[in-house]
Amino acid sequence: EDHPSGSVDVQKDKLFSGLLGTGSINVPKDKLLGGLLAAGFDEGSCLSRYQSASYRKETSYKPSSYLVSRLRNYEALHKRCGPYTKSYNKTIEILKSGHYTGASDCNYVVWISYSGLGNRILTLASAFLYALLTNRVLLVDPGVDMPDLFCEPFPEASWFLPSDFNLKSQFASLDQKSPHCYGKMLKNNSFSIQDEHAPTFLYLHLVHDYDDQDKLFFCDQDQTFLQKIPWLIMKTDNYFVPSLFLIPSFEQELSYLFPNKDTVFHFLGRYLLHPSNTVWGLITRYYKAYLANADERMGIQIRVFDTGTGPFQHVLDQILACTIKENLLPEINKQESFSSPSGPLKSKAVLMTSLSSGYFEKVRDMYWEYPTVRGEVIGIFQPSHEEYQQTEKQMHNQKALAEMYLLSLTDVLVTSSWSTFGYVAQSLGGLKPWILYKPENRTAPDPPCRRAMSMEPCFHAPPFYDCKAKRGTDTGALVPHVRHCEDMSWGLKLV
Ligand code: GDP
Repeated sequence: EDHPSGSVDVQKDKLFSGLLGTGSINVPKDKLLGGLLAAGFDEGSCLSRYQSASYRKETSYKPSSYLVSRLRNYEALHKRCGPYTKSYNKTIEILKSGHYTGASDCNYVVWISYSGLGNRILTLASAFLYALLTNRVLLVDPGVDMPDLFCEPFPEASWFLPSDFNLKSQFASLDQKSPHCYGKMLKNNSFSIQDEHAPTFLYLHLVHDYDDQDKLFFCDQDQTFLQKIPWLIMKTDNYFVPSLFLIPSFEQELSYLFPNKDTVFHFLGRYLLHPSNTVWGLITRYYKAYLANADERMGIQIRVFDTGTGPFQHVLDQILACTIKENLLPEINKQESFSSPSGPLKSKAVLMTSLSSGYFEKVRDMYWEYPTVRGEVIGIFQPSHEEYQQTEKQMHNQKALAEMYLLSLTDVLVTSSWSTFGYVAQSLGGLKPWILYKPENRTAPDPPCRRAMSMEPCFHAPPFYDCKAKRGTDTGALVPHVRHCEDMSWGLKLV
């Protein structure tokens, strides 16, 4: 059933708001998100798909009608070319034969499951946008946990690469030295542009350690060549979308798809990434128990890249310096044991996420031990403290996804520098966060944080190359909408 739907009668409606408080899951929102989502999916198999709108504030962003129509076209393409369709089987034969036969009916980009969950979410959106721009079909390597984490995004055809895909056993070993690596082939000059000798597949190495030849992926000339290759296999841990905006042949299409350039991940993330029912259970139970009743929700995402075990005093100092200076959290009064509220005050629920519980405990205790100056009541909550990053443990990543998603349901967000976990939360939520600067030498930076220019994620390892002039250039200074990031001076982001 469609959770709090438009047709609920008044009584039931009252019951819901009584149960859930004011800032809650209330009535009929546009469950297709302005046409972003296709209608007609089975609701029960993926509750988050159509329920998510009821947990979010009405967004001020609307997808362009062009994006909506391109998504519907993509879905038709995916259905026609998806796993085990006639066209798919045909291109698999070409791949197995190793003989290039000229333009094929369907072309593919295969996304390899690689890196932390935040990174994977960002690279999925990047690969999908690349697929849209090049009329390719995106197929997703399920890895160990993708199907436990996400629903299928496309109607009537799976996005998962079949387990009998003939190159699958090579995925783990694909790297810059692989004979089919595009950059490596360029280095060895082992290309023949003549069709009969063109490869049937190529490996694109877009991992942060990639070299100058791998980076030629971001040049128009190389894109023209890649167009011919039926199978592109991609491994990346980076949100490479900002550099797609610097490729002249994609420019116009991108401006139609995204008239507001800072909404790329916001829309593609909401389109593609629907938490599985298990994860949706984690999200909704937590939301209803700890967040729904508050007048205001705030998220604080703490990611510490320092070595050694925290919690660190300088990080705690920084969190408090930022939130209090920017008026995101109220000051406490250490002189009084009570303070009477001056006028009606809003209740605030603060969701903290971190691998450690230390910061959360200190902030929670502070608001327990002392009153706030104006008397606001502050609740501090943290769903988990997994202590260290674990790979490939099922519940670990389900909780990580639930926490990113819960952060995206807040009204005000504070994030940590360099963290893709935070980027996912901010962009999905349509939030411009306050970013905590990265501490240097174990000291809290001053100023402790700044407001983000846009909600877009940062591309951490962009190329600095002028493809036309064939020399280095500052790619963050070419167009007004691609800038260096707030939290990483060499990164690029859309604004
Ligand atoms: P990044 O390293 O911050 O860019 O984010 P990633 O998501 O790519 O990798 C970090 C991984 O560590 C996550 O996927 C989680 O598995 C784990 N992790 C980091 N911070 C948290 C947190 O606050 N909560 C939970 N549950 N897991 C976290």
